[in-house]
Amino acid sequence: MTNSFIEAVYLAAAAAFILALKWLSSVQTARRGVLIGALGMALAIGGTLASPEIVSYQWIGFAFVLGSVIGVPMAMMPMTAVPQRTALSHAFGALAAALVGTAEYYLRSHELTRFTMAALALEVLLGFLTFTASLMAFGKLQEILPTRPITYRGQNVVNLAIFAAAFAVAVLLVLDPARSALFPAMAALALVFGVLFIIPIGGADMPTVISLLNSYAGLAAAAMGFVLNNKLLIIAGSLDGSSGLILSVIMCRAMNRSFRNVLFGAFGQVQPTAAAGEQKTARSASPEEAAGILEAASSVMIVPGYGMAVAQAQHKVRELADALTKRGVEVRYAIHPVAGRMPGHMNVLLAEADVPYDKLLEMEDANSEMGQVDVALVIGANDVTNPAARHDKGSPVYGMPILDVDKARTVMVIKRGMSPGFAGIENELFYLDKTLMLFGDAKAFVTGLVKELAAGH
Ligand code: NAP
Repeated sequence: MTNSFIEAVYLAAAAAFILALKWLSSVQTARRGVLIGALGMALAIGGTLASPEIVSYQWIGFAFVLGSVIGVPMAMMPMTAVPQRTALSHAFGALAAALVGTAEYYLRSHELTRFTMAALALEVLLGFLTFTASLMAFGKLQEILPTRPITYRGQNVVNLAIFAAAFAVAVLLVLDPARSALFPAMAALALVFGVLFIIPIGGADMPTVISLLNSYAGLAAAAMGFVLNNKLLIIAGSLDGSSGLILSVIMCRAMNRSFRNVLFGAFGQVQPTAAAGEQKTARSASPEEAAGILEAASSVMIVPGYGMAVAQAQHKVRELADALTKRGVEVRYAIHPVAGRMPGHMNVLLAEADVPYDKLLEMEDANSEMGQVDVALVIGANDVTNPAARHDKGSPVYGMPILDVDKARTVMVIKRGMSPGFAGIENELFYLDKTLMLFGDAKAFVTGLVKELAAGH
């Protein structure tokens, strides 16, 4: 295949990636975005396989089978495991970039220009550190590793020193690429830094960190594009790098946290319970009582959270909304930007259950309606409804924009017990006079509500 044909295929693939990002940014067009992204990737792989520089397909075939054996089961991981699944993809992507960089170095170390060596060093540094950091993030989210932040005195200094050492070795290599004894040292320091970088970060911040690692893996791929002189890699890597960074910024804003606080704040460490000694009581209600209140309401705001996702209750929630709508109750959904574990988590689940998009209200719109709502029905959400975020300066969630469910006339909260949410803190909402706790698994309780409504008909 001629090079100009391959370049044309690459250009089409790059256009497909850009369209994919555009379409993925709205629920209505997201499916189309996924398809065009996959098409872009197929074109990119096809174009690369058609390259005249390939001498044998044997190893490529082997890698294809190996990749599929790992990739197919990964694609079947449940929606709630998307953050850790994404972490694994970054780990593999970054490892690939680092290994390609390593191979290129040993093949060409005597003919590398300083510019190419700088790109190669960046690729290898970011690739190896993203590889171990993503594996650690996967371990924390999958709860194979302890999720709490592990800290010690002087930790930030140690981490910074290791990173500075890796960077210094990279600079020496750029000055003289032939100093091959330094290369393994740079790789090893990057691998160690990846592990140490994640240790002090708690499980609660992992989704944000994963998005940042996404950005690093993208930058490593873009640097690889400079080393291999491959424009498509530069474009795709830059898109990946910038979108990952933007997503991390969106998440930090929605939690009212700075990057510094996420990366070095050891958020999620066990908090001394402020309520110790103080006896507070929460009121609970049965499905029958709750169904009666819902039926009598004229407007209900459903607030889905991580617990709804874990329980896979979205279809039952839609059935409940349908049953209430039939009785003339106005039902809408209030979506917090970081409800669940990834931005868009709730939108995707509700779309899967065919909830009409126009029933989903973004946080600001939902909050401006909350004062007129009869019932706010919180389903497996916790931190994103905690009023302490508005007034308790000592709270780890202070300043995080929340859904003001406490402004509704009645609040009902479906959860299994009084356990805290991801931030690890108690929620004063549960103890308000207007709040009724509906204890049980989200799917089971909502099923009970649907049955009660059907029976009462
Ligand atoms: P949350 O604060 O983590 O609370 C979820 C609640 O669901 C828990 O309190 C749990 O209580 C309940 N639950 C768990 N399994 C359940 C089940 N099967 N049935 C019923 N309830 C169940 O969740 P959230 O309100 O959605 O808040 C998201 C949190 O993640 C925030 O702290 C946010 O900052 C953080 N975060 C999100 C993102 C993002 O992009 N979305 C990124 C980074 C961090 P029980 O155990 O008592 O049932």
